[in-house]
Amino acid sequence: MEITKPTLGGRAAAAVVVAGALATTAGVANGWGSVEQPGAELAAKLAAGSLAPQPAPTRGVQTVHVIQPGLEAAKLMRAQQMNAGQHVDEAIRFAQDGYTARQAELKRQADEQAVAQAAEEARIAAEEAAKRPTVVKPAEGSYTSGYGARWGTTHYGVDIANAIGTPIVSAMDGVVVEAGPASGFGLWVRVQHADGTTTVYGHVNEIIAAQGAQVKAGDLIATIGNRGQSTGPHLHFEVWLNGGQKVDPSSWLAERGIAL
Ligand SMILES: [Zn+2]
Repeated sequence: MEITKPTLGGRAAAAVVVAGALATTAGVANGWGSVEQPGAELAAKLAAGSLAPQPAPTRGVQTVHVIQPGLEAAKLMRAQQMNAGQHVDEAIRFAQDGYTARQAELKRQADEQAVAQAAEEARIAAEEAAKRPTVVKPAEGSYTSGYGARWGTTHYGVDIANAIGTPIVSAMDGVVVEAGPASGFGLWVRVQHADGTTTVYGHVNEIIAAQGAQVKAGDLIATIGNRGQSTGPHLHFEVWLNGGQKVDPSSWLAERGIAL
């Protein structure tokens, strides 16, 4: 009798195949051999919409509002953005109006300040002008000779003696109408004043204020000298009224509070 080896062999092979299949089944059941990716699986479920609330079966196909929740959210956000945009526009307009009003207020305050400052400056200038003497003594020194008849002629001025180089100042505000050589005086300076009066400064050593210069009372215009027909360093000072009349300078100065 012949042993049917092939049959046995065939059974054994089938048993191996079954065992392998079992083994494979067990592996799948344990998760072996498969690539488990929970994140990907969740994403797949989300994509399928399986996590979204499902419509009730009785309500047929009314599923639009839950099928695309992202679209609804986008619409809502757009509406809110538009609303927010309007608020922003209003806020900008309000801020611009406020800025304009603030600028106008600042300008008004600046104008007020400018007016107040101008008034204050005018007040100070008037105060300074009031404090400044309108007439001053033309030079310091010894009153050596007065106005009037002298040595068979008329002395039309007063003499104030002092060292050569002693300052001579303008007796009043005015304009230097002449500064240079003059017969008998060597060098002189003449200053014309607003009221038409002219003051004359003779025998000067040095001319400081040039012809045409605007001078204030007390401004240095020359220095005492000994030029021309002079018997020693002194200022010869004359006052010519408007029209040319030569008056006594000591009286003219005394009327203005200046004593020689
Ligand atoms: Zn003189």
